[in-house]
Amino acid sequence: MFLEPSFLTQRRGWIEVICGSMFSGKTEELIRRLKRVRIAEQSVEIFKPARDTRYSVDEVVSHDARSIASRAVHHPSEILEVASHIDVIGIDEAQFFDESIKAVCEELALRGHRVIVAGLDMDFRGRPFGPMPELLAVAEYITKLHAICNHCGNLATHTYRLTTDAETVVLGEKDIYEARCRHCFNEGNILKLKVTKG
Ligand code: ZN
Repeated sequence: MFLEPSFLTQRRGWIEVICGSMFSGKTEELIRRLKRVRIAEQSVEIFKPARDTRYSVDEVVSHDARSIASRAVHHPSEILEVASHIDVIGIDEAQFFDESIKAVCEELALRGHRVIVAGLDMDFRGRPFGPMPELLAVAEYITKLHAICNHCGNLATHTYRLTTDAETVVLGEKDIYEARCRHCFNEGNILKLKVTKG
């Protein structure tokens, strides 16, 4: 389990990234850290890209429906408008932001905020997703979470798309995606290729 650095012993202002496949519990982990922050009576603000409207426009909601109020923004620069007295800034679904999210997170950390970013590290093709590689490179702390492979029960690192849609972003849940380990992910893709080629 990730243990938070102490505000008393560490200079304020750093970046934490929580990454992993779908169904690995990224949002739950983000919510867990933010709830602890609130219990400690520190102030929190949460942002997410405006396009992620799976459940609610105003809340960060995990798959098990634990939620926390959030603000949907269209561009990372809007996060810089956050008030200076806010201790901790949570950012969910960071993979959907453009590359400027990295510079925004670095600026926030320099201003003294603790920045906790959650996002998918790989897209459905198994390729690094959007700005996530850059964020992982500049973060002080990284937590890579795993799901359980739907096929073999090993640790899952990949998000497998059950349909043959080719766009990078197709919003959906268990109807479209499942978590798979590297090997079952690869086997599924080979099978898919055979099917689409007839
Ligand atoms: Zn597997």
